[in-house]
Amino acid sequence: MSQIQQNLEQVREKITKTAQSHRYLADDIHLIAVSKKQPQERIDAALKAGHRIFGENRVQEAVERWITRKKQYPDLELHLIGPLQTNKVKEAVALFDVIQTIDRSKLVDALAKEMSKQGKKPRCFIQVNTGEEEQKSGISPRDLPKLLAYCEKAGLEITGLMCIPPSDEPSALHFALLKKLAGEHNLPGLSMGMSNDFEKAIALGATYVRIGTALFGTRTG
Ligand SMILES: *Cc1c(COP(=O)(O)O)cnc(C)c1O
Repeated sequence: MSQIQQNLEQVREKITKTAQSHRYLADDIHLIAVSKKQPQERIDAALKAGHRIFGENRVQEAVERWITRKKQYPDLELHLIGPLQTNKVKEAVALFDVIQTIDRSKLVDALAKEMSKQGKKPRCFIQVNTGEEEQKSGISPRDLPKLLAYCEKAGLEITGLMCIPPSDEPSALHFALLKKLAGEHNLPGLSMGMSNDFEKAIALGATYVRIGTALFGTRTG
């Protein structure tokens, strides 16, 4: 068994255990293997072990790595978890199944237009800057209702929220805030939790956890 297969099994087991002890269904929690900046052979090991949900944070890198693999593995599900520039919207809509980082009206317009042009509808999440950090992307919690209304008007369906908590604060506070916001707006998807805090995120209702180093080891790129 490859190291990556072992890591996958260990992480899945932790997900199941944590879900059960907090009365969530383990099947409702999806593991996104974050493959950014990982060597290709580690990605292939995860695919060989049967894993099919992956996350990338840069459109260009994702295109280079995943276009051929998508043809090989039709059941792949690719998530964009990094910032999206409007000049990359065309490639992003073509490649990704889920776009998690919508955070401004200009991007909503560009995505809505491109989706109708391509006749393809990736699922869409809004990224919330729960820590209101200046340098971080995401919409501030107080501007979320306005952006959601804007999406509705533009015909862009939003199915969930995503956050990356500030590195120097307890992430549980931010997960709880994200869950509250999702509840207020009736959004079923909650993308939160990474290698070092995914169990906390699951305890607070995550439906997607985004895990890189705990599966693949240290990033090399
Ligand atoms: C890199 C990254 C992750 C994975 O981080 P790890 O600590 O390696 O698990 C998760 N989410 C986002 C948005 C990332 O950019």
